[in-house]
Amino acid sequence: MTSLSTPDTIALPQERRLVTEIPGPRSLAMQARKTAAVSAGVGVMLPVYVERAGGGVVIDADGNSLIDMGSGIAVTTVGNANPEVAAAVQAQVANFTHTCFMVTPYAGYVEVCEALNRLTPGDHEKRSALLNSGAEAVENAVKIARAYTKRQAVVVLEHGYHGRTNLTMGMTAKNMPYKHSFGPFAPEIYRVPASYPFRDRGLKGPEMAEIATTRIDREIGGGNVAAIIIEPIQGEGGFIVPDPGYFAAMADYARAHGIVFIADEIQSGFCRTGSWFASEYEGVVPDLITTAKGIADGMPLAGVTGRAEIMDAVHPGGLGGTYGGNPVACAAALAAIDWMERNDAPALAQSIEATMIPFLRDLAVQFPAIGDVRGRGAMIAIELVKPGTLDPDAELAAALNRHCHQNGVITLTTGTHGNVFRFLPPLTMPAPLLEEALGILRQGFEAHAS
Ligand SMILES: *Cc1c(COP(=O)(O)O)cnc(C)c1O
Repeated sequence: MTSLSTPDTIALPQERRLVTEIPGPRSLAMQARKTAAVSAGVGVMLPVYVERAGGGVVIDADGNSLIDMGSGIAVTTVGNANPEVAAAVQAQVANFTHTCFMVTPYAGYVEVCEALNRLTPGDHEKRSALLNSGAEAVENAVKIARAYTKRQAVVVLEHGYHGRTNLTMGMTAKNMPYKHSFGPFAPEIYRVPASYPFRDRGLKGPEMAEIATTRIDREIGGGNVAAIIIEPIQGEGGFIVPDPGYFAAMADYARAHGIVFIADEIQSGFCRTGSWFASEYEGVVPDLITTAKGIADGMPLAGVTGRAEIMDAVHPGGLGGTYGGNPVACAAALAAIDWMERNDAPALAQSIEATMIPFLRDLAVQFPAIGDVRGRGAMIAIELVKPGTLDPDAELAAALNRHCHQNGVITLTTGTHGNVFRFLPPLTMPAPLLEEALGILRQGFEAHAS
C-alpha cells in the first residue's frame, strides 16, 4: 500500500490486488444479467462490475483492485469520487436537484460559465452555455456558428471524433462502430485531411494545412463555411498530435474567411494534456471551445464557450434543454475546477508525461512493434505496427489490452485502425502505481510482441 502523491487523503488502499480471475465470478454473474437486460448495442470493454473507485484504483464486485489507466475515458481527471467533489454534490443534492435553468435559474450555472470564460484561452469577452454531453455541446457549437455566420457548411477532419448523435455521427470519421447502419447523416459536412505526423510521409504541419485549405477553397468555398471544428489533439482517432503549425494555420484560414474556428477540447481540455486547454500549445485562441469529459468528475456536464458576439448571435430561447447545466453537475464542476486550480493540475499531468514518455521510448527501442510514441500530459499513446512498416497491428493492441486487463490494469485501445494503445490516468494516480502499470505493459510486450 502506498500513499497518494496528491494532497487528498482517500480511504481506498492504493494498490493493485487480484483475488480472482479478471473478471471474477460476481462480475460474470452480473454480465450475464447485463446480456439479458441491456441492449447488445451497448458494448462493454472489460466486464468488471465496479463498486468503488478513487485515487488511481477501481475496486470490483469480487474485491479486485485494478489500476485505472483510463479515467472512464478522460473523465475522472481529479480522481474518481474526489472527496471534495463528493462533498459538493452531496450538499447540492440535499438542497435541490433540479429546477430547469430556463425556468428558475440558480447561481451554480452562472458560476460554471464564469469559470469557463476565465479559464479558456483568450482575454476577449466571452459567454458560455451548458449542456449534458459532449455531442450536445458540439451540436450547439454548430448551431451557434451557423446562426452567427448565416452559412451552412461545417468542415471536420479525417480521424475526427465528435459524438454519436445524428449530426455528430456525420462529423465523426470512423465508420465502425460509430456510424455503420445508422445513416442517413446530416448534409453540409465536409471532411479534409488532418495532420498525422506518423503517417504523413514527412509532410509538415503547414503543408498539411495547405492541402486541407486548398480542398476547402475548391470543393466548398471558404465563404460558404460556417465552422471549422478540430480537436487540438485527436482523441478517438488515435491521440494524434498534429505537426506544429497545422492547427494554427487552420485557425488563420478560418479567420481570413470569416469562419468560426471551433476547438473540440472535450477530451483534451481541463488539464488533461498538461495545460488547461490543448489549444494553448499552438498559441491559438479559438472562437468557440467545446468542453465536457474532465469538467465535472463524471457528473454529466458539457459546455460551449466563446466570443460574446458569436455566442450572443442566437435568438433568446434558441439554446437550452431540460437538464443542461443541472445544479448537481454544476456543483461537481465547481469543486473539480477548484481542485485543479489549487493542486496545479497541469503540473500533475506534466509529471505523468515525464514518467511515461521516456519509459515508452525505451520500450520502443526494444520492441519495434511500437512505431510511434506520442501525446501530451496524461493523454499518451503508442501506435502499434508490423515492425519496420506503417501497417497497423490491431491484433497486438488487442493482445496487450487483454494482458493488462487480466493483470489488473484498466487500459484502452483506440485509433482509426484500432492499433493505438492509449493511457489516460487520473491526475491523482500515485507514482508507484503508474510505474507498476507500466511494468505490466512491459510484460505484455515480452509475452506478445516480437
Ligand atoms: C467524447 C468526445 C465527444 C462526445 O462526447 P459525449 O459526452 O460522449 O457525447 C466529442 N468530442 C470529442 C473530442 C470527444 O472525445
